[in-house]
Amino acid sequence: MFENLQDKLDRAFKVLKGQGSITEINVAETMKEIRKALLDADVNYKTAKTFTDDVKVKALGQNVLTAVSPGQLLTKIMNDELAGLMGGTAIELNLTANPTIILIAGLNGAGKTTFSGKLANYLKTQKGKKPLLVAGDVYRPAAITQLQVLGEQIGIPVYANLESKDPVAIALEGIAEAKRNGNTVVILDTAGRLAIDEAMMNEIAAVKSSTKPHEILFVVDAMTGQDAVNTAKAFNDRLDFTGVVLTKLDGDTRGGAALSIKSVVNKPIKFIGTGEKMEALDVFYPERMASRILG
Ligand code: GDP
Repeated sequence: MFENLQDKLDRAFKVLKGQGSITEINVAETMKEIRKALLDADVNYKTAKTFTDDVKVKALGQNVLTAVSPGQLLTKIMNDELAGLMGGTAIELNLTANPTIILIAGLNGAGKTTFSGKLANYLKTQKGKKPLLVAGDVYRPAAITQLQVLGEQIGIPVYANLESKDPVAIALEGIAEAKRNGNTVVILDTAGRLAIDEAMMNEIAAVKSSTKPHEILFVVDAMTGQDAVNTAKAFNDRLDFTGVVLTKLDGDTRGGAALSIKSVVNKPIKFIGTGEKMEALDVFYPERMASRILG
């Protein structure tokens, strides 16, 4: 898939080779090819169209210096444009409150529990925080055990209440426990479903309104392509989240979902997951993702 995309772009740029400047005629065909390549990288149609239209306007009339090929010039314009569309710079978490409450939301299998562990580990080792993990998936005892195992592995306490089926009560108990123990961050892992459903949304909205989190991070599997965008929209409409976490970017997915999600919900992508291990977490840098999407 990677080679395929690169081949297409190379072919697209060939059209421009040997021309002195980028003109309406030679750029139109190229933009069409680039749009196709972006669609292949999971960028949605509307976003790809807006992007290529903008790039076209910026590229037109640019003189191609002898030292720079039209392909290189266009790549530079596209990289800058893409990075700008994805927010331009990395957006940090707001960690000023004590304790800072971070709510984790997303569908089952998106990588919420794994990310909760990774985030706790990151905040402890990189930001000098003292996190508490709270196991809020009352439907799957296995999810609670999974979080406890991760907590043990990274040396972070986990609050769980196996007697309770009330996610709001568990979240509040967790926050009280954090205040008692001097934890500076509380990470609330929550239950997901296989697909968006009203009961899940009501439940997580109730956790939000009773805990008043400072950050709500929506976790989504980057490999789900267009579905990722639809899910992001549904969660954002209901929760008004503060950031996105794109997981499973260690696979051969190009990450076009990053661009589509940002353009549809206009919320920053804050982290990317790049593996199953606790260290496999990166802060999201728009420029790096731009290069990845363009191949
Ligand atoms: P949850 O249901 O949303 O809590 O999802 P989990 O955290 O249980 O993750 C579901 C599966 O995806 C597990 O097998 C994880 O190990 C795996 N996973 C999570 N994040 C990543 C990632 O960034 N890369 C890869 N390759 N796998 C991941």
